[in-house]
Amino acid sequence: MCPIDGDDCVNENFEELRTRLSEIGDIGSSIALLYWDQSTYMPEGSAMARGRQLGTLSKMAHKMFIDPEIGELLENNRVLEDNNPYDSFEASFIRVTKRDYDKATKIPPEFTAKLSMHNTEMNQAWVKARPADDFSMVQPYLEKTVVYSREMADFFPGYEHIADPLIDLADYGMKASNIRKLFAELREELVPVVKKITELEPVDDSFLCQPYDKDKQLEFSKAIAKDIGYDFATGREDMSPHPFTISLSIHDVRITTRIDPNDPRDCIFSTIHEAGHGMYEQGIDPEFERTSLAGGASSGVHESQSRLWENIVGRSLGFWKFYYPKLQEEFPEQLGNVPLDAYYKAVNKVQKSLIRTDADEVTYNLHVMLRFDLELDMLEGKLAIADLANEWRRRFEADMGVSVPDDKDGVLQDIHWYHGMIGGQFQGYTLGNIMGAQFYETALKAHPEIPGQIELGKFDTLHSWLKNQIYQHGRKFTANEIVENVTGKPLTIEPYMKYLKEKYGDIYGITL
Ligand code: ZN
Repeated sequence: MCPIDGDDCVNENFEELRTRLSEIGDIGSSIALLYWDQSTYMPEGSAMARGRQLGTLSKMAHKMFIDPEIGELLENNRVLEDNNPYDSFEASFIRVTKRDYDKATKIPPEFTAKLSMHNTEMNQAWVKARPADDFSMVQPYLEKTVVYSREMADFFPGYEHIADPLIDLADYGMKASNIRKLFAELREELVPVVKKITELEPVDDSFLCQPYDKDKQLEFSKAIAKDIGYDFATGREDMSPHPFTISLSIHDVRITTRIDPNDPRDCIFSTIHEAGHGMYEQGIDPEFERTSLAGGASSGVHESQSRLWENIVGRSLGFWKFYYPKLQEEFPEQLGNVPLDAYYKAVNKVQKSLIRTDADEVTYNLHVMLRFDLELDMLEGKLAIADLANEWRRRFEADMGVSVPDDKDGVLQDIHWYHGMIGGQFQGYTLGNIMGAQFYETALKAHPEIPGQIELGKFDTLHSWLKNQIYQHGRKFTANEIVENVTGKPLTIEPYMKYLKEKYGDIYGITL
């Protein structure tokens, strides 16, 4: 340790801090690789061994990170935060690492171990309960989850709402109160739109529901991912039951997709969605490699990128003006006689459906808000787990006007609650939709030529703009800061509702 707080000393301390965090980062990347393998190619019988390996590495990384010496090094380098501009690498590095450190040290390692064991057991119960359509198989586990989630929240005293610390873990800086307000506004606007559209004659998408060659689907989707800017030199695409993106390094960001042999939509749009996540991670400043800044700002900002590319770009008419003739060439039997307009309507079909992940852009947020509200009710103690399945049905029917035939496609459908906390799990999806539209509106103001370029299969201007405004900064800024810096105003539902109303008003030939 240095006797005085001279510049050399700060440098020495800074280098030591960087080295130690880099090594922790390398363990994190190794964890990611094991997880990627587990979710793609690992033999089924290896689950237990892999669980142990992941457990050991996670414990190691956590222990190394919460070492009091890291706290001291951070304290010794505080001057870098004070003496450098807020958005400089040094100040951001110290600020963000300190925030992570403060959080990590508040959660006792015994709690993390207990929770991870519980999550494994609960997940195993869920894997059986869902196909069996038997909520009672997970009920006792879920009751424990609520207790653990509250315990987790209480490690961060001083909150306004018990869900706040849990929301904060995924969407730093967001609170139940702000999200509730935003979601209430959105619901008020969305419900009449959903009602108007779903009262109309349903769109015909039968031509998409027939056999489509799997290899051709994959090749076509990969070509799109490459065109929009996902870099296969530092990435790859594989298959998994639930598509995901994982970063092993800024120079190794992998995506997965899935293929429905009887519907090309799943593969194409899952690929574009994950490529959006992937481009975000690939676009982070390479200088941030092996630091706490190498990652997305929040779950909401991440989702804003995947959904901007998937929906605003990938489901636009201009996009398909370019790609549809190519898709027809690949699948002449299925699509040769189907006009562009019919295809465009089919990939944007609005319908009241049971499953969130299959939901269209218009109804999607109702699925998310339902889950968000139930999470708050459970944490507040207003809703007992014993009543959750029934409350789900009641709420779903009230929101969607569709009755839920079973729990399998109701309360048991998403993995989130059966794999982690109750609280903070879902808001990011809708925040992402709202943010994505606000970012895109700003991009169009700066570059009105973007829609014309999309029609020609050119995405450079939009990709560079997003990289410049959002991707390169990694975790330097919070979600709220990014929204304000990029768009000049706080998060608002206006651009999103304007986008939905214009797009779906045109598609359905009505005023929304
Ligand atoms: Zn996503």
